[in-house]
Amino acid sequence: MTNIILFGPPGSGKGTQAKFLAEKFGLLHISTGDLFRYEIGNNTPLGLEAKSYIEKGALVPDSVTIGMLKNKLDANTDVKGVIFDGFPRTIAQAEALDQLLGASEAEVNGIISLEVAEEEIVQRLLLRGKDSGRADDQDETIIRNRISVYHKETAPVFNFYDTKGKGIKIDGMGDIEAIANRLETAVKAL
Ligand code: AMP
Repeated sequence: MTNIILFGPPGSGKGTQAKFLAEKFGLLHISTGDLFRYEIGNNTPLGLEAKSYIEKGALVPDSVTIGMLKNKLDANTDVKGVIFDGFPRTIAQAEALDQLLGASEAEVNGIISLEVAEEEIVQRLLLRGKDSGRADDQDETIIRNRISVYHKETAPVFNFYDTKGKGIKIDGMGDIEAIANRLETAVKAL
């Protein structure tokens, strides 16, 4: 199995690029944000719980997120590998992921961080909010909160894997296709 974490702040282009990579390399794309939005859309108890956190730009608690991720992996045991998009977002989630993959003798092969300037991110998210209707992309206060949560709780996840020699940084600014090409080269080198 080839398991890759596509990493970076909200608005760095993870979703767009993860879809592209999943298709290119025949991997399963798992976005925990998409999974939460699906649960919210179906008014499930998990969705209702997640909604209160997402609306504020806070992280959904680890126990809920890890449980949901585990279910998704358990339902897809025959895949060639996974592109994780928006997960793990805390060290506890990274440790849980390593355990879950380790149980089937798999591991995280690499974490690829999309490097994007902060002001560019805010502008991208506000633009996306207009198109997608996502409430958490429409309010600058919520966006700034998500970026601050990213710096405090999520950024350390890169170091967690980087110290194991698994970290890769990619320039996430500019043309979508150029970024996709840089990512493809990085994945091939894993
Ligand atoms: P995203 O679509 O990845 O930007 O995620 C949207 C929102 O879902 C985030 O702002 C969080 O509130 C929540 N979320 C998504 N993934 C996670 C995660 N791994 N841990 C905690 N909360 C998450």
